Formats: sequence, structure tokens, C-alpha cells
Amino acid sequence: MSDIVGILERELGGDAIVGPGHERLDDYGRDESPLPEFFPPLCAVLVESTEQAAAVLRICLERKVPVTPRGAGSGMCGGALPIAGGIVLSTERMKRIIEIDPGDLIAVVQPGVVTGVLQAEVEAQGLFYPPDPASLEYCSIGGNAATNAGGPRAFKYGVTREYILGLQVALMGGEVLRCGRRTAKGVTGYDLVAGFVGTEGTFGVITELVVKLLPKPPAAATVLGVFPDVAAAGSAITMLLRDGLRPRVLELADKSSIDHIRGKSRYRFPDNAGAIVLIEVDGEPESMEMMMEKIGVRCDELGAIDVLAATEPAERRAVWEARRLISPSLKEAYRIKVNEDVCVPRGKIVEMLARVDQVSAETQIKTCVFGHAGDGNLHVNLLSHDDPEDPAVRKHMWAAASRIFEHTIALGGTLSGEHGIGLTKRDYVHLEQSEQVLEWQRRWKLMWDPSNLLNPGKKIPARTKPCSE
Ligand SMILES: Cc1cc2nc3c(=O)[nH]c(=O)nc-3n(C[C@H](O)[C@H](O)[C@H](O)COP(=O)(O)OP(=O)(O)OC[C@H]3O[C@@H](n4cnc5c(N)ncnc54)[C@H](O)[C@@H]3O)c2cc1C
Repeated sequence: MSDIVGILERELGGDAIVGPGHERLDDYGRDESPLPEFFPPLCAVLVESTEQAAAVLRICLERKVPVTPRGAGSGMCGGALPIAGGIVLSTERMKRIIEIDPGDLIAVVQPGVVTGVLQAEVEAQGLFYPPDPASLEYCSIGGNAATNAGGPRAFKYGVTREYILGLQVALMGGEVLRCGRRTAKGVTGYDLVAGFVGTEGTFGVITELVVKLLPKPPAAATVLGVFPDVAAAGSAITMLLRDGLRPRVLELADKSSIDHIRGKSRYRFPDNAGAIVLIEVDGEPESMEMMMEKIGVRCDELGAIDVLAATEPAERRAVWEARRLISPSLKEAYRIKVNEDVCVPRGKIVEMLARVDQVSAETQIKTCVFGHAGDGNLHVNLLSHDDPEDPAVRKHMWAAASRIFEHTIALGGTLSGEHGIGLTKRDYVHLEQSEQVLEWQRRWKLMWDPSNLLNPGKKIPARTKPCSE
């Protein structure tokens, strides 16, 4: 392994390598997960082309060196951390938007393109790329495909998987695979594209993507409903959906969220505010007024304390401000913020919130819940002022996370709605999936990476006992 950095330097040129002693090397051993430790790689390789990515994967297989793909490093569960050492393969220099075709409604992009940049570029041409992770100003489209990222607009428009039509992937050993299509429909062969999306860099390195675009909705409007408690907010959500409303965003935040942004947001929350619902609709301008009216009436009927409606972009940004302030406010206020993104059936949201309160009472760990209520996807934040490096504190936090996962599964939910499994949730997957299901996934992984050198130790727990037991 020792000469790998020199070999990579000779193959790709010194400019592509962030090597030992470089001040930036440590950055590649961290991501946005709540882990206090970092995992420095031997070096990071900043590839600029598919050929370079393939060369790195060829050399790593020849030398039996682990390699971890990385986009922008905004992942929240340690997926991009080189836990087995070895090389980090970064796509941060692959930032080219190769093509935007308004007729075919597609774009062809390199994986390092920042999601928000792609959105702005296509919107300038009257087009729309809906997936909107809250990290869109810095996360990469390759990382979004690798994690099957979601976001608030997923309720109406779906998650990243629905927008990836074709992929070019560099495989372990250096083979390059082009799969998928450029057409709106297509069922030829098995769906390898869907098979790669969401694999968190364990099957191959995505080096080019064909993404589906939509025409940009002509207008959008946003409503903030303030309720006395989550039960009332939950009823409002249920009734709005029963009314046949199809908002593009349906977000919920609990009292703890409100308490953390009081005094920071321009909107002054009423003293008795116990939950907020944020609803965004889009479509033709004429239909907008009717929908806003309907939402306002429903919120009032169900006991809203206040309803704020915004149609102009500046007003809408002000309404969103409250929701967007929650996460940074928590990060600022606490030394530890474990942000889980469990997903429960929509009808179980209010019960899940009650169970989170129960875990908080049992463990004395403060919690704060907000998220994409339309999808049942809740960001359950476990918060502490204690030392994140204290093993006892960490054990206590993860024991609480484990209880949250158990309640999620008991309610028919899933461990992660959008962030992925990576490292931090890997050892909880067995709570949700049978050993048989895990074993088939291990075999699938080994088909693409028989030496288990590509992002090893992520996504699926290692086998601890024979599958038949
Ligand atoms: C403030 C904040 C808000 C967030 N909000 C959301 C949200 O709303 N929705 C959501 O889904 N996520 C969210 N995230 C999590 C994160 O931004 C997403 O998971 C995102 O998709 C990761 O993209 P990235 O480019 O940063 O990938 P990285 O963090 O670099 O990598 C993530 C995983 O993808 C793999 N990977 C990256 N690039 C490639 C590639 N080209 N080929 C193969 N594998 C690759 C890595 O190995 C790793 O397993 C948020 C994160 C933060 C910090």
C-alpha cells in the first residue's frame, strides 16, 4: 500500500493528488455526520474525467487498496469517510454541465456539479430539476444520486431516483459502464440505473448522469400555518390531503423547533405556538389563489392560531426563513446534534412524535423534530451540551437513537428516508431487514466489487452468523 500515492501521482499528475502533509488532507477524513473522530486517507485523488476515475479504480484493485468515492462531503451518516484507510476519490473537479436539451427535457452532467447550480442553470431556460435537498447550495449531483437524496419537494415530485435516466459508472478494476437511456420511457433490460442509485458509493463511481427535467411551474405560493400543538397540525395535514390538495411541500415542525428560532426569525411566533405546518403549492397563477383560499380555510377550521400566506418571491423567502433557521440554530446551540431522518407511514406521524417525547423523557436527552410531513419523513434531532468525545455521552446518545429506530420500525417505518445508512446507521439495519434480505444485498455488492475494496464497511452490516441461522 505504501507506494500507492507515488503510483497515482505518476499516473494522474501531482496536481490531482492531495497527499500526506497537505493541509487539506484531513478534510477528506470528515463529513457532516455527528462523529467526533476523523479518518484520514492516505491521499485524496481529485479526478477530472471518467478515464481518470477508472484509472484510480484499476490501480486500487491491482494494489488491493480500499477506495472511497466522495462528492461534496455533505453526507450526514459517514458514507464518504475512508474508514478502512486507503484512497478518497473525489469528483469535486468534475463540475461540467455537458448539455441541457429543452426539447428532450434532459441534462447531461458530470457528478461534481453542485445541485443548486444545475437548478439555476435549467431554470434560466424555463426548465425545472425538482429534487431539493436542503444542502443544495453545496452538495453534488453525483452524491445526490449515490444517496438517492430527497428534499421538501419530494412530496409532489419524488426523490432523485425518479430523475436519473442514465449513468456512466467507473467500476472497481477500471471498467467503464454506460447504462440507462435519454428517453422519457424505456424498459429494455434490467434497470441497472435504479440499481446504482442509492448505493452510497459501494457499487461504482458515478462519472456522468443523464437527468430528467420538467417544464418550470409558472407560479408558486407558500403558506405558514401556526397551530397550538402537533395533534392539531397533524389533523390539518390529514384534512388537506383528503381534500385532494397536492402541494409540492408539506413540512411540519414541533414546539421545540419553534422555541429554538423564536427571536431569530422575522416572523414573531405567538406565545402559544406549538407546531407549524409549511405548505407550498405550484401551478398556473389562476389556480394558486383558489388553493391558497382552501388551505387558509382548512387551517382556520382546524384551530390555527395564525396563517401567513405569501405569493411574491421575497415574501415566500421570508416564510421559508423560519423553517430554514431550525437546523443552524440547533447546531449553534448544542455541542452534539444527532440528526436522524426516520420515515413513518403518514398516519403515524403524531404517534411517532409522542414516542420521541417518551424517549426524551426516558433518556433526559433534549429532542427537536421537524421535517417532510407529507412523506412521513421526520428529522429527529437528539441534542446535548455534553462533550461529544466522551465515550459515555456518545453511548447514551446512540442508545437513544436506537430507541428512536425501534419505535420507527414498530410503527411500520424505515430507518432513513433520505440521508442514507453509510456508517452511522449500518449497525441498526438489522432492526428493519431480515438476514435473508441482507445476505442478498451482500451478494449484490460482491458482484460489482468482489474484493470488497470500494467503500468497504458501509450501508450493509457484515455477516455475523450463518445466513441459515
Ligand atoms: C445542512 C444539510 C442539509 C441536508 N439536507 C438534506 C436533504 O434535505 N435531503 C437529503 O437527502 N440529504 C440532505 N443532506 C445530506 C447530504 O447533503 C446528501 O446526502 C447529499 O446527497 C450528499 O451529497 P454529497 O455530494 O455531499 O456526497 P458525499 O457526502 O460526498 O457522499 C455521500 C455518499 O455518496 C457517495 N458518493 C458521492 N459521490 C459519488 C459518486 N460520484 N459516485 C459514487 N458514489 C458517490 C459517497 O461515497 C458517500 O457514500 C443534508 C446535509 C446537510 C449538511
